[in-house]
Amino acid sequence: MSGAKAAGGRLVDGLALDVIGSIPVALVAVDGTGTPVWWNDEAETLLGDLTDSDMAAISARAAADPGPIHLRTAVGIGPAGSPMTWVVATEGASEEVLEAFAHQALHDHLTGLPNRLLLNDRIQQALSRAGRSGASVAVTFLDLDHFKLINDTQGHAAGDALLRAVAERLSAAIRETDTVARFGGDEFVVVCEDVTGPDEAMDLVERLRRALVAPFHLQGEDVYVSASLGVALGGAADTAEGLLRDADAAMYQAKVEGRARAEIFDDAIRTRVARRRDIERALRRALDEQQLSVVYQPIVSLDAGWIVGAEALVRWRHPDEGVILPGEFIPVAEETGLVGPIGELVLDEACRQLSRWRTEVPHVPLFMSVNVSARELRGHIVDTVMCTAARHGVQPSSLALEITEGVLMDDVGRCLATLQELKRIGVQIAIDDFGVGYSSLGYLKRFPIDIIKVDRAFISGLGTDANDAAIVSAIAAIARALRVSVIAEGVETPDQLYALRRISCQQAQGFHFARPMPPAEFTALLHAGPRW
Ligand code: C2E
Ligand code: MG
Ligand code: MG
Repeated sequence: MSGAKAAGGRLVDGLALDVIGSIPVALVAVDGTGTPVWWNDEAETLLGDLTDSDMAAISARAAADPGPIHLRTAVGIGPAGSPMTWVVATEGASEEVLEAFAHQALHDHLTGLPNRLLLNDRIQQALSRAGRSGASVAVTFLDLDHFKLINDTQGHAAGDALLRAVAERLSAAIRETDTVARFGGDEFVVVCEDVTGPDEAMDLVERLRRALVAPFHLQGEDVYVSASLGVALGGAADTAEGLLRDADAAMYQAKVEGRARAEIFDDAIRTRVARRRDIERALRRALDEQQLSVVYQPIVSLDAGWIVGAEALVRWRHPDEGVILPGEFIPVAEETGLVGPIGELVLDEACRQLSRWRTEVPHVPLFMSVNVSARELRGHIVDTVMCTAARHGVQPSSLALEITEGVLMDDVGRCLATLQELKRIGVQIAIDDFGVGYSSLGYLKRFPIDIIKVDRAFISGLGTDANDAAIVSAIAAIARALRVSVIAEGVETPDQLYALRRISCQQAQGFHFARPMPPAEFTALLHAGPRW
């Protein structure tokens, strides 16, 4: 029965309950002892309050009602994974109406693909079949790269059209027996049965990836889209949740490795996932136990040859593991929201230090550059910066906030508004790691940028690689034309410094001048007043 099937899938989380809770059919979930544990508003209207009732009471109420109430039951799995019975009560609804409701409850409205509820059911069924045949089930998680950009630049109608087109292409790329489902947002999941092993799984994934290569025609424009994919293989001993989680972890790895690629869940990813979990747990303690500190790396003016600024870089002294670098824990902090308090700590510390240097070394007017993450930019950063600067008696104009390009791409509208606010209070905006992201030049025009920090990938080849010299020189020229200053990152050799001076790059930073150092050492360096 279709109505019963609607409830037959394993529920992923509360979200699934929301979905079925809102359908206009009365639904009751009954646990193993016959006690109703959950019901929707429709059920309450039709059958009354079900607190402290049981199946017999429900049947009696249905029978007593003068209207034609039918009860149908189906065995299913409840939110906590425990077996339960779903009762569907209908008031004279026809089979067609029920059919339509069931379809609605199990399919995504935009693409018509199976939704999470049905997907879980399909995986579960595939796994039990795999138990009999001995073959594997491949679950592939597919996430479009930079989908938000389409929504932001071309509008939501274009975004919807793209999702529908992607759904069509994926559906055309799979075998009859496979399932493609919309998991949410720009995420799709493909389930393939009878997969012999990792090689075949990767072939299937490659087919999906290739299906998206040709441009999509949106509002008269050709749009190129790529996706990051993660695949996990499972058998009878696995669960739908477990496989989805592993496929998601593999997909995340594909994003980390640079997007537009596929990864298969393996021991290396398993270890990484465990490591991230450990880091997350330890990081919460690190904040409480003040294991985080800030080091500073000098920024040098190439015209003057002396220190004009400092970049604040966070350090974590782990009680057992020693120093852990931000590259390892900032991404975890981003995901868990811990980057908020970490960012506030770094900003506070950096402002305190800047104010100390203003009194201790007044003849060196420094600016302080602080890295901010995407998540911070979405929070109350403007207020935080204003309050922190005021607390330490620091002018916002002596602060620069460093943002990476990827951040700007992810939410153009919101970023623009926040950056304009920051600019209004006098803070300088720097684009960090410039050149390794996407369509960089467009952002210079669009966002109120004061400083470009050229990624060290381009600096390393200066003096040896003619292409790098050409790129950096072009960036410097464009920056000059736009009245934006340039800081070269990662300068390690005298040759690189020489090349930068030849192309009139204004500022630089790197191990050639000094490594990031604790504040006391930086103070000593300022007093010594080195020249380069
Ligand atoms: P970034 O902002 O691009 O910082 C520069 C990184 O390059 C620093 O690594 C620095 O130690 C390193 N570096 C500087 N000069 C050289 C050089 O000559 N050669 C080489 N090979 N490396 C050099 P670090 O401190 O490990 O930071 C890594 C990244 O972590 C930073 O990249 C930044 O994106 C992020 N980060 C650091 N501190 C914070 C923070 O407080 N908040 C946030 N959100 N991110 C931070
Ligand atoms: Mg930086
Ligand atoms: Mg950088």
